[in-house]
Amino acid sequence: MGYVTRIVIIGGGPGGYEAALVAAQLGAEVTVVDCDGLGGASVLTDCVPSKTLIATAEVMTTFDSSYEELGIIVADDTPPLEGSARVVGVDLGKVNRRVKRLALAQSHDITASVTRAGATVMRGRGRLEGPQTAEGTRTVVVTAADGTERRLTAEAVLIATGARPRELPDAMPDGERILNWTQVYDLDELPRELIVVGSGVTGAEFAGAYQALGSKVTLVSSRDRVLPGEDPDAAAVLEDVFRRRGMNVMSRSRAQSVKRAGDGVEATLTDGRVISGSHCLMAVGAIPNTTGMGLEEAGVKLTESGHVWTDKVSRTSASGVYAAGDVTGIFALASVAAMQGRIAMYHFLGDAVAPLNLKTVSSNVFTDPEIATVGYTQADVDSGRIDARLVKLPLLRNPRAKMQGIRDGFVKIFCRPGTGIVVGGVVVAPRASELIHPISIAVDNNLTVEQIANAFTVYPSLSGSIAEVARQLHNRKGSGTD
Ligand SMILES: Cc1cc2nc3c(=O)[nH]c(=O)nc-3n(C[C@H](O)[C@H](O)[C@H](O)COP(=O)(O)OP(=O)(O)OC[C@H]3O[C@@H](n4cnc5c(N)ncnc54)[C@H](O)[C@@H]3O)c2cc1C
Repeated sequence: MGYVTRIVIIGGGPGGYEAALVAAQLGAEVTVVDCDGLGGASVLTDCVPSKTLIATAEVMTTFDSSYEELGIIVADDTPPLEGSARVVGVDLGKVNRRVKRLALAQSHDITASVTRAGATVMRGRGRLEGPQTAEGTRTVVVTAADGTERRLTAEAVLIATGARPRELPDAMPDGERILNWTQVYDLDELPRELIVVGSGVTGAEFAGAYQALGSKVTLVSSRDRVLPGEDPDAAAVLEDVFRRRGMNVMSRSRAQSVKRAGDGVEATLTDGRVISGSHCLMAVGAIPNTTGMGLEEAGVKLTESGHVWTDKVSRTSASGVYAAGDVTGIFALASVAAMQGRIAMYHFLGDAVAPLNLKTVSSNVFTDPEIATVGYTQADVDSGRIDARLVKLPLLRNPRAKMQGIRDGFVKIFCRPGTGIVVGGVVVAPRASELIHPISIAVDNNLTVEQIANAFTVYPSLSGSIAEVARQLHNRKGSGTD
């Protein structure tokens, strides 16, 4: 029998399981060690559950915001729901049971496909033991839930342990009234008044979703506007929509503590103001899972923020140890985690590999409207990091948008001044996550605005606005921004 390369992957999220599939296909002997279940936080507590909850919220918003304009009649004798002026509502217990069922089913599907590919799945907590041996191998100790230990030897180890919610000492989640984003799926009833602390992507997505489901939402944002890391025009549209729908968006407000008060909660802000609600969701960032992993002894360097340092092919500072996903702090996205994991395996197993290119990553904020982005950003253009022209067109002028009663949103494309090569774009629209793809293809393949403009779009369609923006960029030669 020939020599088989052994690989141990610690963490079974998208960074870990995608790497396992690739490595097994390339003929390695692969073991994936995970303490919670394959799919990782992405499938069990983060991406998949939140997007499933948002699927219900999306139907509610679409109905609430357009039924009158679109001529839909709700029977006159339909009484409004108890404690609300609305005629439709949700059974949150049922929604959450569906969320958990789908998450578990997906975790099982992933386990089945990883096993089918020939990899071994091991339940337990993994850690590196000591430095690399003289033979060039690494040892991983796996501790099962009952405390029993097993030692695995491998030529390469991939750390893909992800991240967990950051906690503030004076606002510790209790799983009942003060919650982090992994705990909300245990709620049986809709929070009457929900305080969301943190207005990054997670805070904004949950604030929008619960507002759509029928909660009265207060969003506490420490910055001037919501979504400080996103395109400023897109964030402004979303904040405007949030306020118009009745959300209390508190900007430049920092929560100092959150405590239980009676059968609700009270959040005290740093300026002394106190806000009360029935529940509070803490969404103040994530911290990497690096403790107790033997990283230091193994020679794996951490960055100042506590993430595992990696290069563009996912190597850490320790020979034979790679890392992928949220534990590296590079771009907290499932798609990027998966790419980093695959790159690590291609690199170690000697397959053709292209280094990680973050300038082509597309991502989406799953609010209503959604905000999808790809490539260079407005901040890159404003700071002079790239010389680019841009055109932004509101969706209001799009015929399909008019028919569908869509008022909020826009398409914005950035292109190089001389060549017209598309370097980035932003779409703010319902289902922007689907609409960004042509711009993403253009960015990835150095297509020009002329090429986008020349491709047929369906009439009428929202993607018609993408072609129209490209046409305007093509027709207006020269540099500068609009
Ligand atoms: C609310 C929310 C919504 C999100 N929505 C999206 C989205 O829509 N799209 C998107 O692209 N990204 C989304 N993200 C980000 C995405 O979830 C992460 O980028 C992704 O999960 C990272 O994958 P990962 O492989 O690094 O780790 P994870 O998915 O975090 O998985 C890591 C796994 O490793 C396990 N583990 C940890 N330590 C050990 C150990 N010592 N031994 C064994 N196992 C261990 C963990 O239990 C976990 O199962 C969202 C994040 C949040 C918080």
